[in-house]
Amino acid sequence: MALQLLEQSGVAAPAGEPGSAAWMQAVIDGLCDLSSRDALTGLSNRRNFQVALLREIDRVARAGEPALLLTADIDHFKQVNDRCGHAAGDLVLKAVAAALQDSVRPMDTVARIGGEEFAIILPNCPPAFGEAVAERIRRRVADRPVAISPRHEINVSVSIGGAYAPQWVRSTATVWCERADLQLYRAKAQGRNRVCIEPTAVSLVSAEEKGLLFGTSQFMDLE
Ligand code: GH3
Ligand code: MG
Ligand code: MG
Repeated sequence: MALQLLEQSGVAAPAGEPGSAAWMQAVIDGLCDLSSRDALTGLSNRRNFQVALLREIDRVARAGEPALLLTADIDHFKQVNDRCGHAAGDLVLKAVAAALQDSVRPMDTVARIGGEEFAIILPNCPPAFGEAVAERIRRRVADRPVAISPRHEINVSVSIGGAYAPQWVRSTATVWCERADLQLYRAKAQGRNRVCIEPTAVSLVSAEEKGLLFGTSQFMDLE
């Protein structure tokens, strides 16, 4: 069954002697990869997105690095399905996925979290850059018409919302996503094909100061 799944998904046959430890490991690696990807677009799926988001929340709370979460939703996607058919809708989903992936760094996580909804986790993204990154993503999608047949191209756009994880504080995945989604709704309400990012108060607490605040020495002296 595992081998059939891997073969059907276009994953190369596991290397090594069948039944050997290396071969088993290759099968497990292949299945892990399969269960973390969205079958249509090849992006991270919702499950892998949750894992990446929790990892990022942990890192922000520990290291205080700024991290941005973007959520993107295709504008008027229902019209694409209704007018051009579901096969065209699938082509649009794949094209948008590729545009999103092409617009960010390899360390960023790009996920399809719903039918035509995507999320991007941008670790170590200072607030001064967030708007520019999101705008680059938005423009990349808008500037690439999608060929749904040899002689028919359609223009596609996305609305994007964004929110930073609170630095030095442990957020929750749900709250962080809700904050980004709130901005996405604002982008839709303001006319679509635009970016809204929650304004953020820049934290001026350095790693050293954080150590002073929460380090052990002062508090141990009091005990
Ligand atoms: P809006 O600009 O407000 O986002 O308009 P919209 O038409 O994109 O509306 P909304 O996001 O609420 O609706 C999503 C529609 O996308 C519903 C359904 O027709 C279509 N859709 C959702 N998931 C899939 C999918 O996996 N494949 C295809 N082909 N269509 C999908
Ligand atoms: Mg939607
Ligand atoms: Mg939509």
